[in-house]
Amino acid sequence: MARSLFPPARRVKVLLPLPLAGSYDYGVPPGMDPLPGSFVEVPLGGRAVAGVVWDGEPDPGDVPESKLKDIAGILPAPPLPDASRRFVERLAAYTLAAPGSVLRMAMSAPKALEPASLRTVYTAADPPPEDIRWTAARRRVMDFAAQGPALPAADLAREAGVTPGVIRGMADAGALLPLRLPDTESFDDPDWERPGPELSDSQHAAATELCEAVRARQFSVTLLDGVTGSGKTEVYFEAVAAALAAGRPVLVLLPEIALSAQWLERFEDRFGTRPAEWHSDLPPGTRRRTWKAVAEGRVKVMVGARSALHLPFPELGLIVVDEEHDGSFKQEEGVIYHARDMAVLRAQVCDCPIVLASATPSLETVTNADAGRYRRLRLTERHGVAKLPSIDVIDLRKTPPPRQRWISPPLQDALEETLARGEQALLFLNRRGYAPLTLCRTCGHRIECPTCDAWLVEHRFGRRLECHHCGFAMKTPDHCPECQDTDSLVACGPGVERLHEEAMAILPDARIEVVTSDTLQGPLAAAAFVDRMASGEVNLVIGTQIVAKGYHFPLLTLVGVIDADLGLAGGDLRAAERTFQLLSQVAGRAGRAGHAGRVMLQTANPGATVLQAIATGDRDGFYAAEASMREEHGWPPYGRLAALIVSGEDEGQVERTAGDLARAAPRADGLRVLGPAAPPLALLRGRYRRRLLLKTGRDISLQRVLTDWLSRVKPPNAVRIQVDIDPYSFM
Ligand code: ADP
Ligand code: ZN
Repeated sequence: MARSLFPPARRVKVLLPLPLAGSYDYGVPPGMDPLPGSFVEVPLGGRAVAGVVWDGEPDPGDVPESKLKDIAGILPAPPLPDASRRFVERLAAYTLAAPGSVLRMAMSAPKALEPASLRTVYTAADPPPEDIRWTAARRRVMDFAAQGPALPAADLAREAGVTPGVIRGMADAGALLPLRLPDTESFDDPDWERPGPELSDSQHAAATELCEAVRARQFSVTLLDGVTGSGKTEVYFEAVAAALAAGRPVLVLLPEIALSAQWLERFEDRFGTRPAEWHSDLPPGTRRRTWKAVAEGRVKVMVGARSALHLPFPELGLIVVDEEHDGSFKQEEGVIYHARDMAVLRAQVCDCPIVLASATPSLETVTNADAGRYRRLRLTERHGVAKLPSIDVIDLRKTPPPRQRWISPPLQDALEETLARGEQALLFLNRRGYAPLTLCRTCGHRIECPTCDAWLVEHRFGRRLECHHCGFAMKTPDHCPECQDTDSLVACGPGVERLHEEAMAILPDARIEVVTSDTLQGPLAAAAFVDRMASGEVNLVIGTQIVAKGYHFPLLTLVGVIDADLGLAGGDLRAAERTFQLLSQVAGRAGRAGHAGRVMLQTANPGATVLQAIATGDRDGFYAAEASMREEHGWPPYGRLAALIVSGEDEGQVERTAGDLARAAPRADGLRVLGPAAPPLALLRGRYRRRLLLKTGRDISLQRVLTDWLSRVKPPNAVRIQVDIDPYSFM
């Protein structure tokens, strides 16, 4: 853009949502008055880019006056709040990511920065025209349009389950009337004055403390530690009500928000309306309108996945992280961060309380509570008449299933009895697809992903082989790709689809549903599944970890864990902890109402500490043993870890860079560098990988050590070094 004849009155720093080292200076043309946080459009290399006016004095020495470009315009959105800007800076400093990359997560709906446009929505004509031909589809649309809010054609079609063509036809016939409305979303305020359920004494005591924390209007962390079904949700709902009563908004983070249908229903029962939602499946229009509503302070309660943490809330009165131990809070791509830990940081920046809820909290959180850094509230009993389920460990060496089968005779008996009583059962196997490995009987070839060190997983429903790491898929071949022999390929090991086949054979009358991330895509599918369980249309669920979390099915009384040893194989430092959490979680689905629940864990290693701990319900003993083992070896949370992941398409370059890093490694007391080593996924998406691990005492600033270390190594352009602070995955 052309420079004006007069030098600008002043210059400001602008942070761009790009992986650049820092902010850039721009001139402010006369008459423009940007504030810190203002969203602005600026020229960058011939393009116009949206960015944020950042705090601090620009340094006139950085860019000479003659090179300084002007801000092109201020965008029509409220400035990015101060708390959001501090959060961007601190998250970037913690993870060593570029601040612009972190800002990009806060600007996740760029279209929301454009002026609100008008959109066309439809209402039912009343009365409808007389000459219209009524098909079943048209009637459905009419019923829906007559009762519901005015909706855009695409939404109306989806809600009524018809094609968009039906809507167009009805509009042409005059049965639907178009309206032009501003493209904004209004969220109803949750009604916090509605009475909640009557709380038990222990629930009441916990709720009172949480409400006090909310009213204190200052940073605090509370661990809400309660067994599955103890009413943690009801208890933190009281704190949500307290925040709303004080006029302050609330952010709730759930793992796998797309599947939280039941949570949303409970929220609506309690507060009379649905909260705003944020997750990756939101349609673009909803996404844009929701972001804008948050920025304008019109959202009172937001429930979302980890990405909701970056929404531009002007203030927050409370943050809740439910199932705080859950692995899906760790983001492993792009900016690598743990949403639970960053939620604590967010609460600090907003000076508001945060609640971490779990029946099986992470050892990190438990240690913080034990040390008195976090408040701890305990709920030790299930609500009402529900009792915790009984747990049997089934020794697969003593009562093995028949060959090529995975359900042992005792589990089969229990399944038959349960279904005969009219109750429901869940078989848990954390493996999508039909079989994890396809092998050629003739030449021994194992079918692998062309770009990853991983076997392809057979998906028999979809008739294809899939890589679970990169998404590569191919049609299931009918001959061996190596020796060309036909009819020689065999499936090895079970996945949920194969278990389904087995269950159909041994329980011919069961009404079975397979539930995985392949079958339950999005909130609508999840809600439909919940309905099928509630109505009894389904009485046997076969599922992965996706059904282990959160669901409350009153008639579900039996949980069978097909392979309790699965999570312990190839164990990293948290394998036992994770197994304990996952198995407790899935066990917690059984017997949540009046009927007694039963859990059967199939294992080839019944003596394993973690299984014994679950069987005897000795959670605290397990945590104590796990903690002392970690402490002895200086593993987290008693020491600190950071991983460096070196990757590139040229294996030699990657190897050399990893070697350079090793040679430049910091040397000091209380600090060790492990590696470089080839991880299990030494090839991922066509990129070769090596890992190094930095292990330090708790008192050392990992970030300082890493920054210094990285500054001494210059990788070739085609090689990438990713930093993973507090790594959870070692693949
Ligand atoms: P958690 O989150 O600890 O697993 P929930 O809050 O989901 O437990 O509670 C389990 C079940 O018990 C839910 O159906 C819930 O509505 C019910 N419940 C819990 N506390 C109460 C209460 N005080 N009054 C009525 N129902 C309750
Ligand atoms: Zn792959």
